[in-house]
Amino acid sequence: MTHRKPSAPHPRHIHIGKRDRVFVLTGAGISAESGLATFRGADGLWEGERVEDVATPRGWQRDPERVWRFYSQRRQKAVEAQPNAAHRALAQLEEQLGERFFLCTQNVDNLHERAGSHNLVHMHGELFGSRCPLCEREAFHDTRLYPNAASHVRCECGGRIRPDIVWFGEVPFHMERILEELSRCTLMLVIGTSGVVQPAASFVHWANQHHTEHRPVRTFYVGPEHPANAIAFTQVFAGTAGEVLPTLFHLA
Ligand SMILES: [Zn+2]
Repeated sequence: MTHRKPSAPHPRHIHIGKRDRVFVLTGAGISAESGLATFRGADGLWEGERVEDVATPRGWQRDPERVWRFYSQRRQKAVEAQPNAAHRALAQLEEQLGERFFLCTQNVDNLHERAGSHNLVHMHGELFGSRCPLCEREAFHDTRLYPNAASHVRCECGGRIRPDIVWFGEVPFHMERILEELSRCTLMLVIGTSGVVQPAASFVHWANQHHTEHRPVRTFYVGPEHPANAIAFTQVFAGTAGEVLPTLFHLA
């Protein structure tokens, strides 16, 4: 911990008032700190697989066995991973704020839930969920592994059950709820995801749009890299989520 003057222009804490509503967006960085590898745009690979092969509808059409083998490995890795200090800090904040806290995660693992978060949506789907691509049957909780085609299951309608993941080219889940929460939050945090890349860039914009003199909206970014659109945020906190979050929040 560094020593600082109380009057420093850039406070090291976020003060949360009794009437604040908090919206949090988390991304790959927070899972990476728990050892879960995520897709890196630079080489187009995700754990050695091409993204087109394992994270697009076309890849699924072409080779469902390869897709299920990949997500079965991801399930195994996620079971072995543990929530970190950042997950725990957000769960603790929810405990203190109750329904004034909302978490939107781009991550498909369940580390937020395992840390104790409840009021959250997975906009890119869930690793431990499966669904039928053909009929209206709801997605269901699924921890099974599908190492080969013989292990695959079919829906009553005949459809081949697929991972409940939003692939590239598919529409993110829960957008209506997310927009509603963004329109009523007074405090928005972007954590462990690039502030410039979508959806974070739009989300901070939407939150800022609801700023008024009588109902100020504050937006914050937490990440190891300084975002190109830092100007869109009230303040940027430099550091990894696990370093920054545990001491970030001061409640009124
Ligand atoms: Zn079906």
